[in-house]
Amino acid sequence: MALAGLTNLEVLRSATTNGARAMGRDVGALAPGKLADVLILDADPLDFRHLTCRVRPMEPNLGKIEGLVRQLLIELGEDANREGLLKTPSRVAKALAFLTHGYRADMRAVINQALFTQTTGGMVIVKDIELYSMCEHHLLPFYGRCHIGYIPDGKVFGVSKLARLVDVFARRLQLQERLTEQISQVVMEEVGARGVGVMIEARHLCMMMRGVEKQNSTMVTSSVLGVFRENLATREEFLGLACRRAA
Ligand SMILES: [Zn+2]
Repeated sequence: MALAGLTNLEVLRSATTNGARAMGRDVGALAPGKLADVLILDADPLDFRHLTCRVRPMEPNLGKIEGLVRQLLIELGEDANREGLLKTPSRVAKALAFLTHGYRADMRAVINQALFTQTTGGMVIVKDIELYSMCEHHLLPFYGRCHIGYIPDGKVFGVSKLARLVDVFARRLQLQERLTEQISQVVMEEVGARGVGVMIEARHLCMMMRGVEKQNSTMVTSSVLGVFRENLATREEFLGLACRRAA
């Protein structure tokens, strides 16, 4: 999708017709050329990169969230004025803003600082990247580890920056399956790799604390692209190395 020269309105229209959802205070009154105070959700990583360059991500309104959390406490039967809860709405608002900062992260900046040229034909594997995210169905945390493997095609990604890249997508309301795919797609496209494999092992508090109450279950998801998808031996090499200690 060519975005050069488009106005914000056209970018927004283009994003929404390509399956992204937009929300924000100014969406209805968006004028061509105006910098919109909107947040684009669910764009695929490539489009998202362009969109974040052009559309200012919406900062959460902390005061409004505070009021909503206070109301929530009352609805749950609490006394929102008791000492222990007095500052809870403001703490929760700040915590939620932090836990969703991936929506507002500058992914292009993270990537540009991390790419460097190197001719290596072997598989690069980074294991045990710590991962904390929030399940979009229950607003409860899921946490675990992410393993990323790729075969470079002239460029490699700084190891520590891979963890930041994981955070860009993890610090949002997520599904583990989608998170896994988004990470693999962005590594494939941005590093220009010949193939990518991503595996995430995570525990979901929504499963552990409620519902089925399966305290010891770990959910494992994987996404493979390029030669990892086409070549069984490559895929098995990655899955074997990623699983070795984790199992
Ligand atoms: Zn859940």
